[in-house]
Amino acid sequence: MKAVIKPSQTRGIEVRKDWAEPTAGPGEVLLDIAAASLCGTDRELYEWTPSAQAFNLRPPVVLGHEGSGTVLAVGEGVTSVAVGDRVALESHLVCNACYPCRTGSAHTCERTRILGMHIDGVFAERVTVPEGICVRLPDNVSLETGALLESAGVAMHAIQRSGYAVAGQSVLVNGCGPVGLVTAQIALAMGAAHVVAVEPNPFRRKQAESIGATVIDPHGDVVSHCMDLAGARGGFDVAFEVSGVRGVLPTLLDALRREATLVTVGHPSEPAPINIAAHVNKKGITLRGIFGRRLWDTWEQLLLLLESGRLELDWLVTHRLPLDDADEAIELLTGDAGKVLLVPSLR
Ligand SMILES: [Zn+2]
Ligand SMILES: [Zn+2]
Repeated sequence: MKAVIKPSQTRGIEVRKDWAEPTAGPGEVLLDIAAASLCGTDRELYEWTPSAQAFNLRPPVVLGHEGSGTVLAVGEGVTSVAVGDRVALESHLVCNACYPCRTGSAHTCERTRILGMHIDGVFAERVTVPEGICVRLPDNVSLETGALLESAGVAMHAIQRSGYAVAGQSVLVNGCGPVGLVTAQIALAMGAAHVVAVEPNPFRRKQAESIGATVIDPHGDVVSHCMDLAGARGGFDVAFEVSGVRGVLPTLLDALRREATLVTVGHPSEPAPINIAAHVNKKGITLRGIFGRRLWDTWEQLLLLLESGRLELDWLVTHRLPLDDADEAIELLTGDAGKVLLVPSLR
């Protein structure tokens, strides 16, 4: 079958037409991939940056960790999904045995493995995955939307991690890639008073505006803009850092009021200094970070919002390409694009 692989620990990828056909062993599910979505991590893996190398994958491996598909076959002992089911995939494979896993924090599993890195991923016509990462889609959620849920789940988790500090509150979102956009969208859906998004790229700014966020340029005065809106409250109630750009945290901490919350989502490539005395101790700001989705609270809540019609994600998709054009798809990530999909049925 056709698959997009990372052939070796160097820059680049390869589209293979002769990749071995996967089969479902015990506890495994064989899927016909409907759509697979790309994210910044795929670009890192393509470029083989230090942060990509830190994932410790062993090429050759099929890339792709955001995808959806229809169940073609199930292996021995599989009970939670059946042939014909439409599913989205959690990308983190957790051990269910370590301390975090046994105490309700599997999202910080000590032995996390990742789809498309440590086992073959979804940039292929078919894939086999452990039963445990399959999430059945509600009838009114399309397979294409299903491919967006892994990354939308990161936004959902960020909102959860803030203690839902968005309803009737002033919300700052730094960075309008797909995760930042969905964070802004969920905050608005949950009744935020203000959602101010910070983003330099004109295409992404337009996307943020289209969902009802107020957009400002990072080179503009973010702090005074927030102060004006906040008045005597002294700053915004919550901020989400979704850009991963180094050096942005002091600005966000300045824009927040006392006892506010900052949730970091983006991963800066190097340590990012902050003023503990001024911002954490004296101002009392709570700093929290997230990685991936809470298992399974995040999925349950995201599916509820989608099923109820309160949240709709299709608008995020700007490009659909065949597997053969994987190079071009990765190239698109740095340009004017929202979510870029690889669709194996396209030729
Ligand atoms: Zn991703
Ligand atoms: Zn674990």
